[in-house]
Amino acid sequence: MPISRLELADASSPEALVKRILQAEPNLPVPVPIQELCARLGILGVEDLDTDDFEGGLVTDAKRSEAIILAKRGGEPRRRFTIAHELGHFLMAHHVPDQPGRFLCKSSDLLRHTAKAGDQRQLREVEANRFASLVLMPPHLLREAMAAFRESDLQHVLALARDFAVGKEAAARAYVQYHPERIAVVVVGNGRVQRCYRSLSFPDIICAVGSPVPTGSLYRSAPPRPNSASDIAACSPDLWINVKRDLRAPGLSEQVYFQPNGFAMILLCLEPVPEESAAERRLDEGWRHRFHSGRR
Ligand SMILES: [Zn+2]
Repeated sequence: MPISRLELADASSPEALVKRILQAEPNLPVPVPIQELCARLGILGVEDLDTDDFEGGLVTDAKRSEAIILAKRGGEPRRRFTIAHELGHFLMAHHVPDQPGRFLCKSSDLLRHTAKAGDQRQLREVEANRFASLVLMPPHLLREAMAAFRESDLQHVLALARDFAVGKEAAARAYVQYHPERIAVVVVGNGRVQRCYRSLSFPDIICAVGSPVPTGSLYRSAPPRPNSASDIAACSPDLWINVKRDLRAPGLSEQVYFQPNGFAMILLCLEPVPEESAAERRLDEGWRHRFHSGRR
């Protein structure tokens, strides 16, 4: 049975909304037909937005009964994400636009995943992005697609982006969240770190946003062939993470995917920590104790 707004009436978070949509549309195909979904949910149409200042927008009435989505022309994956993001604003009744009846979202809004405490505008952009990711990559379909993947590999990110018709960065973010290994993806633009996405158990990345990619990284030495993923190679873990000097350094590997526009993604994968034998641990602890107490 096709979904209608009524079924979403008491859902307000991105997660609750997407759950309802999936309950009403159990056979949703991949790629998710986002424009059809919009049409069923009260969106009268999607129009082109001809400005460089904004990526997307939503024009609606005060009662929020129907709306028109505005989306910048461009690549289809990016446009699909924008449409899903604006649908999110439309469905979340607590999202209040800056101007009455009109949301306008910049490209930086569509990349926002954290909000400053108390900043309602940032928070609503984060929620609209969460909604867009969840509706374009429904968790059960993403898990099904990822069941075929074993060791982490950027080829999988490319396959997800292609199959779900989403941008490579949106696919990478979902990939690190759902992959069982400790992985991270660093998005690079013109040699500098732009954004980092980490799985929950991946440690903090020490390269700040805006800083150059470390000299020892595979990014600097791999042949920059656009649209192809490099081999996976071991790297020095302290290029990217803080390695405690008195602990055994974990193994870290890198893989690079260069895009033609000066952007690249670097996949970082931490090797699983081998189960230490009790004897080894005692030896290590003894050594650490001597290290800190200055005894030999
Ligand atoms: Zn927005």
